[in-house]
Amino acid sequence: MQIINPATGEMIRTVETDDAVSVREKFAAARAAQPAWAARPVAERVALAKTFGELLKRDIEIIARDMSLETGKPLQQARNEVNGSLNKVRFFCEETAAALAPAKVRQDGNTEEVLGFDPLGVVLNISAWNYPILVGFNVFLPALLCGNAVIYKPSEFSTLTGLHLTRLLHEAGVPEDVFVAVTGEAAVGEQLLQLPFDCVGFTGSYSTGKKISESFAGRMTRLIMELGGKDPLYVTDECGDLDAVADAVAEGVLYNNGQSCCAVERVYVDEKIYDVFAGKLKAKMQAWVTGDPLAATTMCGAITRRVHLKFLQAQVNDAVSKGARLELGGQIQEGKGNFYPPTLLLNANHSMDVMREETFGPLIGVMKVKDDAEAVALMNDSEYGLTSSVYCKNAERGKKILAQVNTGTGYLNCCDRVSAWLPWSGRGHSGLGSTLSRLGIHAFCHAKGWHIRS
Ligand code: NAD
Repeated sequence: MQIINPATGEMIRTVETDDAVSVREKFAAARAAQPAWAARPVAERVALAKTFGELLKRDIEIIARDMSLETGKPLQQARNEVNGSLNKVRFFCEETAAALAPAKVRQDGNTEEVLGFDPLGVVLNISAWNYPILVGFNVFLPALLCGNAVIYKPSEFSTLTGLHLTRLLHEAGVPEDVFVAVTGEAAVGEQLLQLPFDCVGFTGSYSTGKKISESFAGRMTRLIMELGGKDPLYVTDECGDLDAVADAVAEGVLYNNGQSCCAVERVYVDEKIYDVFAGKLKAKMQAWVTGDPLAATTMCGAITRRVHLKFLQAQVNDAVSKGARLELGGQIQEGKGNFYPPTLLLNANHSMDVMREETFGPLIGVMKVKDDAEAVALMNDSEYGLTSSVYCKNAERGKKILAQVNTGTGYLNCCDRVSAWLPWSGRGHSGLGSTLSRLGIHAFCHAKGWHIRS
């Protein structure tokens, strides 16, 4: 498989890929290695994860550079990702032992009732490229710490990063058959789906998630899915400093080139402040410099997948043909690299694809609303349900609005934020189950009820 630099169109290197035979062999080895791994004390597994965190810090520059080269992510944002991932290591290292400890929940006469947890067995982690470290950690770190073996397929667009993670886990002491990387494109993913995994932790698009759930139908396999988003943000007339809000919204739209599952994907603004806010948002978005991902000044790098440029252009053309006003950007930049400029569409509405389909790029539609009820109805008018944000300094009003929006995460006066201490879960087309938090540790365990009579 050729690893292509999306900023130049040039090949970085080639990587050996797996096939139907090698994935079967890797699965069999993981199945055989898992019981011994599960039998080790949880404190030992936690110690290895801590060492892994130290190694990530040691290799931050090597990893960030390769991630930037293969995904087009600005180098500084790649460094931020490695640093951010250390928080997840910390959370899982601090929480797992307590989360897995058997807990007496009740005494019923002479019977003790105890809640315990067992590992699931062999977990398949098929992963995405947009935050290759952060999204992988949601699945494989807790899965490993709970005593599972993991077969990990990084995205074909972030294979080098995935191989770094694999190398460092092994260097930290995780046995090679307990954490096993599989490389390749969708066809290799499909071969993996034929195997009898105990759980699939998938991060990627709704369309692939749907195929995976269809493939496992009837197999009683636990599926945990982190899928796409069409995350709404509502700026109320009580949002406070409009300049600061516009700054935060521009970042929510453009960070990681808009290629974030929880990027701000559609904006609703109270009609009383619409014109002023739109002007400020345009100015803030204009300040995001697009260019060479390795350059220190770059804020928007390359679009990772070349085919996506045409998708972005189609959303802009569709919106303009239906009456949106193109205020900024809106044209593919010619050349070998995959560049699309920050793009702002005003007067958007829900007849336009840009307000309904996941965009996954540096492009935003903004729509005027007359009150909270209209904003809530529009925010809920989506098949996705990952995150939603409201900017409102009146906390009671803001929380009341967010409580009515059908998403797994609600942000008041902030956006595009993930915490390992809170559950990460999507509703509808945004996913199944939950990762992160204690829930995201128990996601990779069987619960067992013990009735112990003396
Ligand atoms: P994708 O669905 O194209 O690919 C994801 C992974 O699935 C890759 O490893 C790919 O090789 C594999 N794959 C593709 N087709 C397959 C098949 N038929 N069988 C088995 N495996 C297959 O998604 P992507 O482009 O890598 O990621 C972008 C998407 O991921 C966006 O929709 C984004 O919102 C979503 N995402 C969600 C979260 C979240 O936490 N909810 C986080 C990151 C990304």
